[in-house]
Amino acid sequence: MDNIWTEGYLHGNEERIFVNTSLGCRASCSYCYLPRVGYTTGGNIERFNTARIVLNSLFNSNQFIEGKMGTIISIGCFSECWDIMNKMETIQIIEEVIEKGNPIQLATKRFIDYKEILHIATKLKWEGQLSIFISCASISNWGRVEKGTVSPRLRFKSFNIQDKLGIPCYLYMKPVLRDITILDIEKYLDVIKEYKIEAIVGSIFSTNSSEEKAPILPGKLYYDKKSDEAVIKEYLSSVCNVYDTSVEPINNRRSVFA
Ligand code: SF4
Repeated sequence: MDNIWTEGYLHGNEERIFVNTSLGCRASCSYCYLPRVGYTTGGNIERFNTARIVLNSLFNSNQFIEGKMGTIISIGCFSECWDIMNKMETIQIIEEVIEKGNPIQLATKRFIDYKEILHIATKLKWEGQLSIFISCASISNWGRVEKGTVSPRLRFKSFNIQDKLGIPCYLYMKPVLRDITILDIEKYLDVIKEYKIEAIVGSIFSTNSSEEKAPILPGKLYYDKKSDEAVIKEYLSSVCNVYDTSVEPINNRRSVFA
């Protein structure tokens, strides 16, 4: 295993590989797990790699299974993939993985203008090959718990991508923050209705051992189930599909349209 893997630019297994062209994040969300696993937040990013180097390592790896039913490529787990500092590298990753036919997902707390990915939409090999997850753990308290990210109001405009380009977009309510996320349940509902999107509602990661291992650093990070989660899921289920993980809708789409 080369240093692209050991440093965290690539992380995962043949089912799902996380891809980062930088390590660390300039934002500083209060709940972020990066500082707990050795990466910095809230300052300049100092650890970068090029998309070319990371992709070469990915495509030459035994872990990477090419094709629609192959490895899910998740962009960003130790970074913000749509930061101005690495957006172009992220776009290159998407473009080249599209050619391999694999499902691609990206999660961000930035605004993605549909015009930035117009050219990508025309290259997709199958419906749902790329999915976009706009992450938001709090609407009314974002300035306190998601410092350095863009406002939810702007972030949610990314959902126009679904209507304009036919690329599925999801509201990513993960992690649910106890007594905080639930405060905005009506606001989240309005967003879902406005953009006709589906939602992912999931737990915060913890280093405390629990029955359910996290997909990132399993054995080091675990899901820490919060009671608010069940309430939010039930409430939002009245207007849309609500998933526990971002992988579920991807697996649905690639099976249905196989
Ligand atoms: S945007 Fe994501 S990676 Fe960056 S600090 Fe927030 S949770 Fe961590």
